[in-house]
Amino acid sequence: MKCPYCGYTDCKVIDSRDVDDGVRRRRQCLSCDSRFTTYERLQPASLFVIKKDERREEFDREKLLSGIRKACEKRPLPTGAIEKLVDDIEAELYRLGKAEIPSELIGDMVIEQLKKLDHIAYIRFASVYHEFTDISALKEEVDTLLSGAEAPPGQLPLLPEVELAIKGRRGNRKQGKVRSRR
Ligand SMILES: [Zn+2]
Repeated sequence: MKCPYCGYTDCKVIDSRDVDDGVRRRRQCLSCDSRFTTYERLQPASLFVIKKDERREEFDREKLLSGIRKACEKRPLPTGAIEKLVDDIEAELYRLGKAEIPSELIGDMVIEQLKKLDHIAYIRFASVYHEFTDISALKEEVDTLLSGAEAPPGQLPLLPEVELAIKGRRGNRKQGKVRSRR
């Protein structure tokens, strides 16, 4: 494993633990002592993506991740939200149990997920994937989003703490665990 800081090709593993779908290893460069983390996961049987021009390309998780990252650039998303989105989509793709999957299907899945996660990222991604045929189609979609019919829960709340407090209280009430202050 090459050191991401100095490029030295040897490192030692200082910690290793099982995570959800693989192994997380904490490593230390033998040259500059920098520490970094690697994840090792099982590579399932190959999955191919059918492009619009009928070409086949092996499914590339990193490529998908970087496309979504671009769409989410500078958006106030919780740490790990993008990775989780990609994990979910990847898992769903393998669950389909098909050797080949049309790229449009993957694009649609991403668009659906982003719509729930962040409206700006959704519009960016959908624009890149030519979801909108022209500017009026784009305006229509933005209008729909603004009408609030499909606002993601907790999308940029004005006062996050207040909203969380309200949600928390509601949650407690449901479970009948409202604590009275004394
Ligand atoms: Zn190094």
